[in-house]
Amino acid sequence: MNANVVIVEDDPRIAAHVGQGVAAHAGLSLLATVGTLAEARALLDHAVDLFILDLGLPDGSGIDLIAQIRAHHGAMPKILVLSVLGDQETVLAAVLAGADGYLHKALNNANIGEQVADALAGGAPLSPSIAACVLRYLREQNSQPEKEDGEASLSPREYELLQLLARGYRNKQVADALSLSPHTVAEYVQSIYRKLGVSNRGEAMVRAFRNGLLRR
Ligand code: CA
Repeated sequence: MNANVVIVEDDPRIAAHVGQGVAAHAGLSLLATVGTLAEARALLDHAVDLFILDLGLPDGSGIDLIAQIRAHHGAMPKILVLSVLGDQETVLAAVLAGADGYLHKALNNANIGEQVADALAGGAPLSPSIAACVLRYLREQNSQPEKEDGEASLSPREYELLQLLARGYRNKQVADALSLSPHTVAEYVQSIYRKLGVSNRGEAMVRAFRNGLLRR
């Protein structure tokens, strides 16, 4: 029996290329190709065996979908991230949320069918650059003493941003103060919420205050 694969990708050229790779591989069926998180969520009631998931999507981050799937559906469907993002924070967030594999789009993904089959068989396909990123994190963890909850995972930039949020700055003002685009600020804010395990600004402030993350 063929495994049902869904591609979540908002770039039609990449979606088509990946779709061909899936369709050409024995044992895989392309169930659907969608371009948004909302469409992907609507497919969760169907028999999906594996999602090939882009992270930068028009209606949010694919990482939120990973977390949602793992919270409500357990270990299945499998999730293989396919993203241009290769920075440590994003990679770790996806892996810790429950991604089964992570492929960097910079790589020529000619053998995507094989990678999908590998993930379905219980493997963890990682691009070499992504594997290096995970190993570097493990080494760092091993050489650092334990820190307070939350503080350990916030990057210096996120910490800086948290201080501004605590002073009542709106996203637009934070963007101006740090010379970032509003879009980037929104992504940082989501990342902070995720790391602190909260879902809004008020909870983030309470958690940050309790953890001693706010400067007096
Ligand atoms: Ca995208």
